[in-house]
Amino acid sequence: MTDGPRNPHAGAPFTDGDAAIAAALDDVSVPALLCSLVHMTGDPSWIRGEARPRVATATDFQSAMPKEWLADVRARALPAIAAYRDGGCEPKALSRELVWEMMEFVAAAPVNEERGTMMLHDLALDGGDPDAITWGDDINETAKQAAHTVVIGAGESGLLAAIRLAQAGVPFTMVEKLDGPGGTWRHNRYPGARVDVGSHHYCYSFEPAEHWSEYFCRQPELLDYFTRILDKHELRPHCRFNTEVTAAVWDDEAARWRVHLRDADGNDDVIDARFVISAVGALSLPRLPDIPGIDTFAGPAFHSTKWPADLDIRGKRVALVGAGATGFQIAPTIVDDVERLMIFQRTAQWMFPNPVYHAPVPEGDRWAMRHLPFYGRWFRFLMIWPGIGIGVESYRRDPAFDDSDGQAINPMSARRREALTQWITMQLDGRPDLVEKSVPPYPPMAKRILQDNGSWLGALKKPNVDFVRTPIERIDATGIVTSAGEHYDADILCFATGFRHVEYLAPIDFTGRDGVSLREQWGDEPTAHLGITMPNFPNLFCLYGPGTNLAHGASIIFHSECQMRLAMDAIHEVLQHDATSIEVRSDVHDDYAARYVGEIGQMVWAHASVEHSHYKNRNGKIFTLSPWPIETYWAWTRTVDPQEYVIR
Ligand code: NAP
Repeated sequence: MTDGPRNPHAGAPFTDGDAAIAAALDDVSVPALLCSLVHMTGDPSWIRGEARPRVATATDFQSAMPKEWLADVRARALPAIAAYRDGGCEPKALSRELVWEMMEFVAAAPVNEERGTMMLHDLALDGGDPDAITWGDDINETAKQAAHTVVIGAGESGLLAAIRLAQAGVPFTMVEKLDGPGGTWRHNRYPGARVDVGSHHYCYSFEPAEHWSEYFCRQPELLDYFTRILDKHELRPHCRFNTEVTAAVWDDEAARWRVHLRDADGNDDVIDARFVISAVGALSLPRLPDIPGIDTFAGPAFHSTKWPADLDIRGKRVALVGAGATGFQIAPTIVDDVERLMIFQRTAQWMFPNPVYHAPVPEGDRWAMRHLPFYGRWFRFLMIWPGIGIGVESYRRDPAFDDSDGQAINPMSARRREALTQWITMQLDGRPDLVEKSVPPYPPMAKRILQDNGSWLGALKKPNVDFVRTPIERIDATGIVTSAGEHYDADILCFATGFRHVEYLAPIDFTGRDGVSLREQWGDEPTAHLGITMPNFPNLFCLYGPGTNLAHGASIIFHSECQMRLAMDAIHEVLQHDATSIEVRSDVHDDYAARYVGEIGQMVWAHASVEHSHYKNRNGKIFTLSPWPIETYWAWTRTVDPQEYVIR
């Protein structure tokens, strides 16, 4: 027996009988189970046999292993698990080399040093939270208490910031314009809202993940998760809900931010902060289309973020304008309740087949996550790895590849196009009219790829659906008129038309050193060093800032953890040196921005064949997405390099 508290990832000891265990094994991911068996037995032969993952994909938890292998492993696992149970549920210590071999086993490929180091950190098999703040005595307590910090926003990144500040003992206030935590998951309550990054990956690395009821959870469960995080970490006393930050002004002499607030009743207040952490998200400002007559519609008309809680759609004619990530979720959810659904999609969207998109996590898999040692961590690895392992190179335009027809940007992109087109045509068999409307005229991945378990394409085929690709000319009191002169009568209009992505930190006015306005400094081309810090704006850190949205690789929470680690290290740097401010050097920022622009322009997202994209600014340039390999960004955000900043 080991002393001290049990490693939280080791699973709770259990006494379940063999029959119950055998039943649970039917539901588990066998690659994750094999890794857990190594932990249970200390015997590496579990991962050295014939039964091994053939390919890592985030939507097949058996990694394409044939059925006979799965059955064989399950049969051999039962006595080993029973022996582990009977022996008191004590996992064996494993060497780093063996864990590395296990990573390569699940990845079904070699894992290079940079990625492996990052993934070991994320696995955190020792049960700790490697990014938890554990500052030593080098920080003067008075300086720390004078470092009151304002966190703007209580979504995933704001909560993370609050957790880290609380660990550091830095006083802080979290200001949130909504009436509670959860950010996007409080804001977006439209029918069918769910995460499209795997739940066991779309969560904090240091929090348990065995509770998820679906592999891609729905909005109420996500909202509940973030609310529980707030309470578990006792953050509520630090919160000011229903309060908006309207402006923040840097006082250089005092080295403090004056943060201007307005509550829901219109009362103004100003609070002082040494540091400000912007956690406002990047997809929160609704974008309504500029369609003539939009205000003349007689019935309910609203942006998807404003879906009325009491809206009765039964038997109604609903016009859905926009079919990106949001529209893709709304349409299949409401199609069977409405009399008629008219979907107006301006540009076709690529989607990949995801058979587990709406799947519940079966009881056996949840049992395994609760009890089998490190099973949950390996399951998380299995979900994260496919995005990270593929890297960003497949998103890069190959200069030797002819992409002038907008079909593909490199050989892999061409293969992707073929496979994705095949899925669309198969699902729409017998409906060439729908196939023609559904195959995009731009390379795969150039807009955010969506996913479908058949429900989106299935909805298009329903007799009560009009799938309209003719441009909208205007809206009148009774419906929508297209440029072909057709009139679509509607009772309800929903605009799933997305967000003003490029307007970072809007509508807050930030005024930095020497009265510089952040809005003016950025214009249409927002940049920040590592997406986090800007010259002229000391002590201001962005989470999910310019150039950090991920259309490849990992979850946004993973990225927030990187950004918050750097922000906390910067704060530590200031306090440790008895200083009061830290500001990125202009030349460092400019060099990073130039490298960013050079890199992003080569990527598929910048392809000229994409006419409309929330990634692009009005001139077609991108300042929203990260072009960097995840492991590179992770390494860059490990610690602050003091040479890159002015610390006063
Ligand atoms: P979006 O991807 O920007 O899609 C907006 C839709 O509205 C597109 O079909 C767009 O057409 C259309 N549209 C916009 N302006 C229009 C106009 N003037 N006339 C006609 N059509 C117009 O927005 P979204 O679906 O809300 O998603 C935005 C982002 O939020 C996603 O990329 C994702 O990052 C996030 N999101 C995530 C989830 C999830 O994880 N489950 C769910 C929803 C959203 P064009 O394509 O031609 O521009």
